[in-house]
Amino acid sequence: MTEAWRPDEDEQRRRGASGPVRVRVPAKVNLHLGVGPLRRDGYHELNTVYHAISIFDELTARRGDTLSLTMEGEGTGELALDDSNLIIRAAHALAGYAGVLPHARLHLRKQIPLAGGLAGGSADAAAALVACDTLWGTGLSREELAEIAADLGSDVPFLIHGGTALGTGRGEAVSPVLARPTTWHWVVAIADGGLSTPQAYRELDRLREAGSAGPPLGSIDGLLAALRQRDPRVLAAALGNDLQDAALVMRPALAATLKAGEAAGALGGIVSGSGPTCVFLAADAADAERIAVELENAQVCREARVAHGPVLGARVT
Ligand code: ATP
Repeated sequence: MTEAWRPDEDEQRRRGASGPVRVRVPAKVNLHLGVGPLRRDGYHELNTVYHAISIFDELTARRGDTLSLTMEGEGTGELALDDSNLIIRAAHALAGYAGVLPHARLHLRKQIPLAGGLAGGSADAAAALVACDTLWGTGLSREELAEIAADLGSDVPFLIHGGTALGTGRGEAVSPVLARPTTWHWVVAIADGGLSTPQAYRELDRLREAGSAGPPLGSIDGLLAALRQRDPRVLAAALGNDLQDAALVMRPALAATLKAGEAAGALGGIVSGSGPTCVFLAADAADAERIAVELENAQVCREARVAHGPVLGARVT
């Protein structure tokens, strides 16, 4: 991808910043998540269309004498603040690449649900790369940041870029989907608790071995054609997720959530990534609001939020 930084952003990035650097990063959904065979490195070959939506985490970076992290919001009580945290790993990875000391005071405000299938951890890693790059004045291109990002997690490069993009390999090879700008309106049904992504892949392998998984999605062409048509009904019919069967086995209650979304008038709905979040496509913003209220009243999720997409990836605000 060859996307330039904004001129003001670029100037700040090259100078380094003395004051706080605030970065906003979106959640992702997969409009198409095709899962291929298990590779020898333990990952599955993926064929996916990523889409960034307007649910955001915010990371603030300030100058410090060491590297420290504090957090507030969605599920942060469950996260360690040590080297296992993706934010800390991202800061170390960037410092190592750029040959600078990894000194910063980082604070995360989290709104993306934890282990929800919305790539919240990957989003935070992407935010940390962009925030520290600006704070330290390391001035890397988005392509260089995406290269570091790929080692941190398969979804991290996409969250540097945002928008709507094709993901191949294990998901880390990202290229933009060229479509005329359209805003899609989503309802995001957040469940209680999370699901483990590795466990969802293992469950899919088990279902496939037992011959009880649905047929694989196959080609991505239908989804890409649907995006070009800019008609939410067409896009809704093209949504697909090979991990959905596994998520439904692990969390059978999601079947009722999907059904309730349909009954509320959503044009289509799928489990997001490895779940348990479900996302529904609405005809317009007003419809999305109405469906969200109905889903909450039906008590089939912890919370229903409206969101739109595509939005930009990790950006200094
Ligand atoms: P994905 O869809 O990318 O597989 P997910 O959306 O299901 O992931 P995440 O919220 O990214 O789930 O969390 C996955 C795991 O990553 C968490 O259970 C946690 O152990 C780990 N993790 C490490 N650092 C973070 C972070 N800063 N935020 C969220 N999770 C983190």
